Amino acid sequence: MTAKSAAAAARATVATVYGYPRQGPDRELKKAVEGFWKGRVTADELARTAAGLREANWRQLAEAGVHEVPTGDFSYYDHMLDTGVMVGAVPDRHREAVAADALGGYFAMARGTQDVAPLEMTKWFDTNYHYLVPELGPDTVFAANPAKQVSELREALTLGLTARPVLVGPVTFLLLAKPAPGAAADFEPLSLLERLLPVYAEVLADLRATGAEWVQLDEPALVQDRTPEELEAAARAYRALGGLADRPKLLVASYFDRLGDALPVLAKSPVDGLAVDFTGPAAANLDAIAANGGLPGKRLVAGVVDGRNVWINDLERSLSTLGTLLGLADRVDVAASCSLLHVPLDARAERDIDGEVLRWLAFARQKTAEVVTLARGLARGTDAIAGELSANRADLASRSASSLTHDPAVRARAAAVTEADTRRSQPYDRRVAAQRAHLGLPLLPVTTIGSFPQTTALRTARADLRAGRIGTEAYEDRIKTEIRDVLAFQEKAGIDVLVHGEPERNDMVQYFAEQLSGYLATRHGWVQSYGTRYVRPPVLAGDISRQEPMSVRWTAYAQSLTTRPVKGMLTGPVTMLAWSFVRDDQPLGDTARQVALALRDEVNDLEAAGTSVIQVDEPALRETLPLRAADRDAYLAWATEAFRLSTGGVRPDTQIHTHMCYAEFGDIVQAIDDIDADVISLEAARSHMQVAHELADHGYPREAGPGVYDIHSPRVPGVEEATALLRKGLEAIPPERLWVNPDCGLKTRGWPETRASLENLVAAARAVRREL
Ligand code: GLN
Ligand code: ZN
Repeated sequence: MTAKSAAAAARATVATVYGYPRQGPDRELKKAVEGFWKGRVTADELARTAAGLREANWRQLAEAGVHEVPTGDFSYYDHMLDTGVMVGAVPDRHREAVAADALGGYFAMARGTQDVAPLEMTKWFDTNYHYLVPELGPDTVFAANPAKQVSELREALTLGLTARPVLVGPVTFLLLAKPAPGAAADFEPLSLLERLLPVYAEVLADLRATGAEWVQLDEPALVQDRTPEELEAAARAYRALGGLADRPKLLVASYFDRLGDALPVLAKSPVDGLAVDFTGPAAANLDAIAANGGLPGKRLVAGVVDGRNVWINDLERSLSTLGTLLGLADRVDVAASCSLLHVPLDARAERDIDGEVLRWLAFARQKTAEVVTLARGLARGTDAIAGELSANRADLASRSASSLTHDPAVRARAAAVTEADTRRSQPYDRRVAAQRAHLGLPLLPVTTIGSFPQTTALRTARADLRAGRIGTEAYEDRIKTEIRDVLAFQEKAGIDVLVHGEPERNDMVQYFAEQLSGYLATRHGWVQSYGTRYVRPPVLAGDISRQEPMSVRWTAYAQSLTTRPVKGMLTGPVTMLAWSFVRDDQPLGDTARQVALALRDEVNDLEAAGTSVIQVDEPALRETLPLRAADRDAYLAWATEAFRLSTGGVRPDTQIHTHMCYAEFGDIVQAIDDIDADVISLEAARSHMQVAHELADHGYPREAGPGVYDIHSPRVPGVEEATALLRKGLEAIPPERLWVNPDCGLKTRGWPETRASLENLVAAARAVRREL
C-alpha cells in the first residue's frame, strides 16, 4: 500500500459486523424465552434479559474496536419473522392473536397454537439456520411497524455508540416468501414490491429521524441465480429507495456467494454503499468488481473474514484483497462475510480443546478481533499490526504442519482411491436378483428409517453416564435392554427388515464424529438452528480416520436376537460434513473422501458381521447443493462419489439403502441415481405419494420407499389411509420395487403413536399384498 492510499484509508476505515450471536454466553435468551412460554418469566423480565444481552454484545463489540455496531439483528425467535412484523405481513389466521397480544401473537406465528398452524420453517440459504417463511398473497396489505428497529437503535445510541440498523431487504423478503394459503400457487410475492417499498421508506425515515446515519439492507437472495425480471425488480427497488429524499445512507449487503449479474444492478443503483462477501465462492466478487469498473462514489464494506465457519483468517491474504479493493471504491471498510449468528460465541470458552488447535479456531469474538485488526492494518499499514500478523502466520503454519491436519496414512489411502473403488462389483440389475435370493423378503417389505423413540429414560441414562453417576457397563446394559425391546416389538408387529433403534446415539452426526479421529467436539459451541433450538456442531478439523468399528457391535447384537435381517445404520459422508464445521484448508471433496473411506471400513465390517442390509443416510445431500447452479455439477460429482466410495466395497447380495428427508428432489434426481444405492426412502406422506410418481417420471429404476407415515406429527395413520397411499404408490412403482416405511426416523415420537402407526403400516402392507 502506498503512503498516500494508507493515509486516505486511515481517515475512513471502519470495522463492523452485520450481526452477532443472540443467545448470550450461557444461552440466557433460550432460558428466558422458554421460561416465558411456560409462564415462569414475565414479558417484562424477558424484555429486560434481551436488552441486557444486546447491551453486552454491543459493549463487547465496541471494546474490541468495532466502530459501527449493528442493531436490529437481535431476535426473540427469527429475523425473517421480525421483518414480517415490521412490514405488517401477519397471516390472516394470526391477526387476532397479534392484535390481542403482540408478543403472544409473535410466538404463535413462530410455533403455532392448539388452533392455528405456525409459519413454515425452512433453511436460510445453505446455512443450518432456519427462518420462518412469510406468507403473502394478492390481498396482503403492508403497514410499517418500525418499533423494534427504532427502539434497538435508540438503545445502542444511548450507549454512545455509532450504530447501523440491519434489515432484511425488500427484494430478499419477497423472494423468500411463499404464497399465502388461499392464494394461487403460482402467485409471485415479488409482484408486491411496489406495495412494499413505501413501507420500507417509512421505516428508513424513522430510523434516520432516530439518528441512523447508515442503514443496512440485506439482500442475500441476490447471490442466487436470478431471472432478468427479478434483477429488474431489484433495480427498481433500489432506484426507488435510493431516490427517497428523507433517507439515511443505504448499505446493501449480500453474502453466501458471488453477486454475478446482480453486481452491475447494485453498482448502478443510487445507494451509498455495498457490503460484499469475498470468502469461499464469493471470492469471485473481487474480479467481478474490478471488471465492472469498481464502485466509484460508493462505500464498500468488504466481508473478508468468513462469518460462517470457525477457522482463523489468513490476515495477509485478506489484507491483499483489501489493498486491491482500495483502488476500486470510494472507501473500504472491513467486516465478516455475513452475520456472526452462524458461529459460536467464543473459542476461549473451550477448555477441552488442545491449546495448539484452539489457536486455529475463531468464533464470533475472535472474528470480531480479526476484523478490527484488518481495519487497523488497512488504515495504518502493516506495521501497525505486526504483532497480530506474526502470531497469525505462526498459527496458520502450526495448522498446516500439524499431524492432525496431515496424517500421511490417511492421505496415502485417499490418494490411492481408484474409480473401481467407487463402483459395486456388479451393476444394479444383476445385484438385485442376488439380493432377492439372499434376503427372501415379501413384496412390499416393511421397514423403518432407523431410530425409535429416544425416551427420557434413554436421555437420562446418557446424562448419568456423562456425569459419572453410572458406569459404562450399566449404561450399555440399558442400551441393550432398549435394543431387545425394540427388536421384540418389531418382530411381533411383523416388520420385515428390522433396526436396532439407534438408542446409543445422541445425534446422527455427533455420534460418529465422537468416534472418528480428526473431529473435535466443543463444549460451548452453540449456534442457533431455529427459535430456541441451538446445536453444537462438531468441528471437522483434521484428517479423518476410524480407530475401530463404531456401530457394528450394536447392530450385531440386534442381529443375534432375530432371524430376520437387521439393517445397519450409518450417516453418509455428505451429511457428516454438512452438519459440522468443516476444515477450510482443502477442497470439501477431499474431506468427503476421507470420511467416505472411514465409513467404507464400517460398511465392510457390518457386512462381515453378518449384516445384509446397510442404510447410509444422506438427508443433507440436497441442502448442501451450492446456491449457484453453475457450481452444482462439481458438488454432485464429489458428493455422489463419496457415497459410492463408502458403499462400494460390499458383496452384490448386500443391499445398500439410503434415506433422504425430503419430497422435493427434482434438482438432484440424477444424483439419487448416481449414488447407486439399491433402495431409497424419501419423505412423502404429506405429498400424497407424489414423490412416487416423480421418481417414476424420472425413470428411477430402483426400489423405493416413499414414506406412508408422517413422523413430524403425533398423528397415527389409519390402516385405510396407509392402504390407500400404498395403492397410489403402486400406480407409479411396481410391487417388486415398493417398500413400506415411515418418512423419517422415529426418535422424536412417543412410543404409543409409534406402536400404533407401525402396526397399521404392517396391516396395510398385508392388505395390499393380498390384492396383488
Ligand atoms: N437414521 C436416522 C433416524 O432414523 C435418519 C434421520 C434423518 O434422516 N434425519 O433417525
Ligand atoms: Zn429423514
